[in-house]
Amino acid sequence: MSERERSSSRSRVARVGALLACASLASFAAAQEAASPARAFCIRGATLVDGSGSPARRGDLLVREGRIVALGEVDDVAARGAESIEAEGLVLAPGFVDVHAHGDAFEHARFEGFLAQGVTTIALGLDGGSPRLPEEAERYAAGEFGPNLVLFAGHATLRTTAGCGLRSDLGAEDLARLSAAVEAALAAGAVGLSLGLEYDAGRASSMDELVTCAKPLAARDAFVACHLRSEDDAAIASALQELLSIGRASGARVHVSHLKVVLGRGEERATEVLALLDAARAQGQRVSADLYPYTASYTGIDLLFPAWARPPHSYGAALHERRAELLAHLKERVNARNGPAATLLGSGKWKGKTLEELARELERPFEEVLAEDLPPGSASAAYFVMDERAMRRFLRDPEVMIASDGGPSLAHPRGYGSQARVLRLALDGEAGFTLEEAVRKLASLPAATLRLRERGVLRVGARADLVLFDPQRVRDRASFEEPRRLAEGVRATWVNGVLAYEEGHANDARAGCWLRATDALEFSLPAGR
Ligand SMILES: [Zn+2]
Repeated sequence: MSERERSSSRSRVARVGALLACASLASFAAAQEAASPARAFCIRGATLVDGSGSPARRGDLLVREGRIVALGEVDDVAARGAESIEAEGLVLAPGFVDVHAHGDAFEHARFEGFLAQGVTTIALGLDGGSPRLPEEAERYAAGEFGPNLVLFAGHATLRTTAGCGLRSDLGAEDLARLSAAVEAALAAGAVGLSLGLEYDAGRASSMDELVTCAKPLAARDAFVACHLRSEDDAAIASALQELLSIGRASGARVHVSHLKVVLGRGEERATEVLALLDAARAQGQRVSADLYPYTASYTGIDLLFPAWARPPHSYGAALHERRAELLAHLKERVNARNGPAATLLGSGKWKGKTLEELARELERPFEEVLAEDLPPGSASAAYFVMDERAMRRFLRDPEVMIASDGGPSLAHPRGYGSQARVLRLALDGEAGFTLEEAVRKLASLPAATLRLRERGVLRVGARADLVLFDPQRVRDRASFEEPRRLAEGVRATWVNGVLAYEEGHANDARAGCWLRATDALEFSLPAGR
């Protein structure tokens, strides 16, 4: 066989494996007839970190037909016919679950940056923008992806579907249409509702509207994942209270996406913010949060502009009629956010330059450059506005899980480094928690939050979503200069029992499927796969 044939046959085998891993009982026999079954394999002598937080132990793990069938000591009889994989000195953990990721699932279907960190399930459709459900359900159900996907229904997307656009004067009929759209998306398999309250559609929304949208979630134990209305130090408390109120009034679980306090300093400030969440829990509310372990955020340039210069208002009119006011706002806002050197453009024609560098190059004040050359919607940027000590304090909180907020097209390293970075910090004793706790925050905590009952832990009967890594070598390598450098030290990642990533080897397997949430609060695999 030529190299090309070998690789295409490898990928065929992998696809067949994926097909079987995703097969429902009805289609299983047909798929088996069409090709050989998914490989059985036994990983031997690994350090097992099972995701529950309990101490690591040495052991073996046997996989057949996409599920873990034995764990601990596996004898030769049980492992008959299974490929043996020697894993002395390596850590075997449940595949990681990222509750907040970004990217086009068809353009970047492999999502290699995630697989290279051992991430086996990613959530898409966050911050209010999502695929359209149920309209796109069939397309996702038929898709083959590197990791498994779960999808949120995005509030901004639903607003478009329901004909509300960016209006803030919604009436009873609008709310009824929105509510029906949420119901339809959940019935099609959405795992929850995402809000982006700092973005245009979210900014236009009232408490009444948000509660209406969240209500259908309560009956399904689904949750609202929220990019808060503001993450700024001065406004975070009221923004959190808004989310907590949505939860109380609707009965739905609430979740803070990418927890941070922009420009807030020190451990104490983070502790104060966490105390607001703890207080809500003490009142019986169910509240969760995720975090990426970096001190720069990344989003559209829009958030530097005043509300009256953003949609639905005309930017041209704002610039023309209120120019002096606009320039003053931009100057003050950027200076308050650590100045123009702390804004690093990540898209558009000046990608890779800071606002300070660009202003110097164009020989104009930075606020003028922003107003004239970088209007809302024109670019995204990384903003170095978070304090390391505050971030580390959030990271240590036992209720905070790790999510990247990253993806293949972002000029921020978090999509290629968040999970590996947390492993490295824990292994070096710098995280303030153990490797076992790191794996809990990376796997079982997010899996439980998403109600992924068959994933996130190593146990007999669970789906074989697995990561095998070298504790000496595992680390993130992506940087702001090279945001798409793969992490190192992950030796192999399996998705649904299929080898989906092997360090140093090209692998074309797309073993992941869209995991739909069903009415029964259980996750089912796509019908007919
Ligand atoms: Zn966000």
